[in-house]
Amino acid sequence: MSQVTVKQGTHYALMETGATAQWPDYTVSLPGIDIPGKLFIKESLALTGCEVSLNSMPSGGEIPFNHTHQQNEEVYVFIQGQGQMLLDGETINVKEGSIVRVDPQADRSWRNNSDAALVYLIIQVRQDSLNQYSLTDGVVSEAAPNWA
Ligand code: ZN
Repeated sequence: MSQVTVKQGTHYALMETGATAQWPDYTVSLPGIDIPGKLFIKESLALTGCEVSLNSMPSGGEIPFNHTHQQNEEVYVFIQGQGQMLLDGETINVKEGSIVRVDPQADRSWRNNSDAALVYLIIQVRQDSLNQYSLTDGVVSEAAPNWA
């Protein structure tokens, strides 16, 4: 059984979720439905700019509803297995290495129509919120790494 642990640092938080093979142990309970194999990490890590979920959908699994968002875009990062997404009625095939950006208004669902687990991350962030990033946001420190 997987168990989440969080270590709080001065300017970081470290969350342990177990190996991806253990992610099916997690369940998110929504009104009227449980989604097995899903774990949101925002609250554990005290994230302030995005929500991320870890997901492992079993063979034959599916999200039994469509949904849209009000202001957040989502990025689906598929890291193991294969399946399909349904985006505004269009079916696309996804597999390990596929990354899909979904606009807030897109009506979406997805399923695992393969014979192995579909493992993926979903990153949810406010559309048009990123003003600076990577090399325009990062600042190289004067001190070199000191691993002591
Ligand atoms: Zn969503």
